[in-house]
Amino acid sequence: MRVTNLFTKTLKQAPADEVAKNAQLLIRAGFVYKEMAGVYAYLPLGKRVLDNIIQIIREEMNSIGGNEISLTALQSSEVWKASGRWDDAVLDVWFKTKLANGSELGLAPTHEEPLTKLMKPYINSYKDLPVYPYQFQIKFRNELRSKSGLMRGREFWMKDLYSFSKDQAEHDAFYEKASEAYGRVFDRLGLGDITFKTFASGGSFAKFSHEFQTLSEVGEDIVYVHREKKIAINEEVYNDEVLAELGVKKEELEEVKAVEVGNIFTLGERFSEPLGLTYTGEDGRAKNVFMGSYGIGPSRLMGLIAEHFSDDKGLVWPENVAPYRVYLVSIGDVAEQATELYERLQSAGVTVLYDDRNERPGAKFADAELMGIPHRVVISERLLEEGVIEYTSRRASDASEKLTVEELLAKIA
Ligand code: ATP
Ligand code: MG
Repeated sequence: MRVTNLFTKTLKQAPADEVAKNAQLLIRAGFVYKEMAGVYAYLPLGKRVLDNIIQIIREEMNSIGGNEISLTALQSSEVWKASGRWDDAVLDVWFKTKLANGSELGLAPTHEEPLTKLMKPYINSYKDLPVYPYQFQIKFRNELRSKSGLMRGREFWMKDLYSFSKDQAEHDAFYEKASEAYGRVFDRLGLGDITFKTFASGGSFAKFSHEFQTLSEVGEDIVYVHREKKIAINEEVYNDEVLAELGVKKEELEEVKAVEVGNIFTLGERFSEPLGLTYTGEDGRAKNVFMGSYGIGPSRLMGLIAEHFSDDKGLVWPENVAPYRVYLVSIGDVAEQATELYERLQSAGVTVLYDDRNERPGAKFADAELMGIPHRVVISERLLEEGVIEYTSRRASDASEKLTVEELLAKIA
C-alpha cells in the first residue's frame, strides 16, 4: 500500500472527550474513528489489525473442529423470554427496539438463545453430535460506563463459539481442547506471558468456569495470580476452599489488575432444557444436549494490545497483529529504486506501507512511529551510493543499522 493511496490521516490530537489511552492512540494514528462513547468505526489500518486478530482466532477455532457461521443481530423477544433473559432486570445491557407492527426486538448482546433454537432442526440424533459452530460478530451492550476505549464498547466484536455435546464427558474433553486453543491464540497475539487462565464461578453445571485474564494496569478486574503455576483466581471464587482445591497458598498469590480477554463456560442444560434442544440417544431415549460457550473479544484485544505495547511515540504492534510489517520511507529523488524495493519486499511475502509522499523525512518518521509498524526501512540517494538501506526496529527506534537488501530480507522475510 502506498501512503498516497491510503485513506487515513494522523492527527496531532485525539478528541478531547476521549479518555482511554488505547483509543487516543488509535484515533491519532488513523486506525479508528470515534462515533460516540463506546462506539468506534474501523479505518483501513484498524480494519487490518482487527482482521489479523480475527484470523489468528479463526485458525485456532478451526483447528479444534469449529465451523464458522454468522448469526443475526436482530432478535425477536420470544426465545429470550423462554430462557428468562428478556427481562432487563435479568440482563441489564439490552438495546431494545420495536418493529413497525409494535412487536419487540432486541439487538443481540450474545447468542446462546438464538443459536440453541437454530440448532433444533439440525440436531436430532446422537449422530448429529458433537458440533461446534462459532462466529465473529458485532454484539450490542448498553454498558453503564464506556471509558476504556475499544476495551469496553457498547458495540464490539466478539468471537463466540458454542459446543453441543452428547454428555458431560464429551463436553469436558472439548472444553480442555478449547482452553488449549485459547492459550495458543494469546501466545500468537504476543500476550502469552501476561495472560493467565483464571478460575471463576461455574454456574450450575460446573464448579468453575475459566476466564483468560491479561495483566494490565488499566484492567477493570482484580485477579490473584500464581506466576509459577501460570494460573489465577478471580475475586468471586477467591476463598480458602478454592485455594486448597487448587493446591495454592495465599502467600504465593499476587493481587493484580487484569483485563478479561476471553472466557470458557460450561452451560450444561441451562439453554437446551428451556428451549427444548434434545436428541435421541443410542438407547432410543430423548436427552438434553450438553452445551458450552467460549468467548473472545477481538476489539477488546485490539485496544489492549494498542495500549499495552505503546510508548511515548505511539503504537508498537506485535509482528502478527501489525497492519503492515514494513514502513518504507523514501527520501529525495529515489522513486524508482524505492518502488523496486517495495515490489521486492512484497514478492518475498512482506506487507509494506510505502510512504511515497512528498513530505519531510521527519514527518514520515513520526507517522511510522505513531502507527507502530514493526520495521522501518529508509532509502535515499546517499544510502544508495553506499549500496545499503537504513533499518530501524520499532521496538528499538533509537538504534538504526545499515543493511544490504539481502540482509534486510534475511532479517524480516
Ligand atoms: P466483562 O466482565 O468485562 O463485562 P463479560 O463477562 O460480560 O465481560 P462475556 O459476555 O463473557 O464478557 O463476553 C465474551 C468476551 O467478549 C469477553 O471475554 C471480552 O473479551 C469480550 N467483551 C465483553 N464485553 C465487552 C465489551 N463491552 N467491549 C469489548 N469486548 C467485550
Ligand atoms: Mg459484561
